[in-house]
Amino acid sequence: MMHSFRTVPDIRIANGGAARLGDHLQDLCANKRICIVTDKGVRKLGLLDAALVSLHEAGYDAMVFDDVVADPPEAMVLTGAQAAKEFGAGLIIGFGGGSPMDTAKVMAHLCGCDQPLADMYGVGKARGARLPLMLIPTTSGTGSEVTNVAILTTGETEKQGVVADALYADRVLLDVSLTLGLPKLITASTGIDAMVHAIEAYTSLPQKNPLSDTLALSALTKLGGAIERVCVDGGDIEAREHMLIGSMLAGQAFSNAPCAAVHALAYPLGGFFHVPHGLSNALVLMEVMKYNLPKADILYGEIAQHLKLGMGGAALIDEMARIKDATDVPQTLASVDVPQNAIDMMAKDAMTKTRLLMNNPREMTYSAVVDIYEAIA
Ligand SMILES: [Zn+2]
Repeated sequence: MMHSFRTVPDIRIANGGAARLGDHLQDLCANKRICIVTDKGVRKLGLLDAALVSLHEAGYDAMVFDDVVADPPEAMVLTGAQAAKEFGAGLIIGFGGGSPMDTAKVMAHLCGCDQPLADMYGVGKARGARLPLMLIPTTSGTGSEVTNVAILTTGETEKQGVVADALYADRVLLDVSLTLGLPKLITASTGIDAMVHAIEAYTSLPQKNPLSDTLALSALTKLGGAIERVCVDGGDIEAREHMLIGSMLAGQAFSNAPCAAVHALAYPLGGFFHVPHGLSNALVLMEVMKYNLPKADILYGEIAQHLKLGMGGAALIDEMARIKDATDVPQTLASVDVPQNAIDMMAKDAMTKTRLLMNNPREMTYSAVVDIYEAIA
């Protein structure tokens, strides 16, 4: 069997790097005009301020598109691309969590070629040139900075993915100082999401490979201890850096060995009820792992052994339950205002996520999905 592995070619790890952003753009932007894609939350926290000063001092002209919202709607992405085109941007920078980064990936494409967005959905469909693209995460979890995926909301609630190698950014900047102020709940749920990326990559059949396995295991080693440390002390910079690097490693793993049923069951929570992505995954995680155990015992057991948790796959499930409890993330659908009578609709929607379900170690059925949602109702 042949395996191939792809990732972003230039990944920079620099505490305080965003404040020296002008220094990190060599050879990326031909015309010194930059479109920064972010959201109002990032703006309000002032995370972009020093970066904008640095760009100005380095002679760049920057426009900021800060209209990104969670679960990016395609109309918003089209508006952003139009604004960047009119500005004459020569570089797109995604600055924020998963939504700004995903939006930036697609905007870079829309600005660089004439392919309509509707033709880009699916695997390998986004073709043609795009503008140079740089990604700077401000949360530790999505791993979007090193993936070739962008998830957009089309219509009312439906989500579609653009998956193509052209979505790998040209450069990534990991600056731990941007993550220091993240609130505890976001830190915990996005950190658990990153652990899910690593676990699902490690069990992803048939695409798991020696490189994705190695990255997934290193990601889990870094994330496992760090999440709880950061929940106790948000200013623990060493633990914050472990989380940032760990979520990036997990992103590299699942970009090559894709996610599975945890994500398939999590997406309807975001699509129908706007439950944040990390939290959605944390909610369904335990029950999906229990369902998978009969087929995933050996692989979960390998992870457990690597993390020195003991023998057998159940040890990994116990550890994830312990981390969830220790970080106080919500445990039921009711606690995030998802009503029990939505389960049938969500289960039907989850079953359409074949791009994800095909990678699950145990075949998922409609009735199993209903049982899982009911167990956490
Ligand atoms: Zn995820």
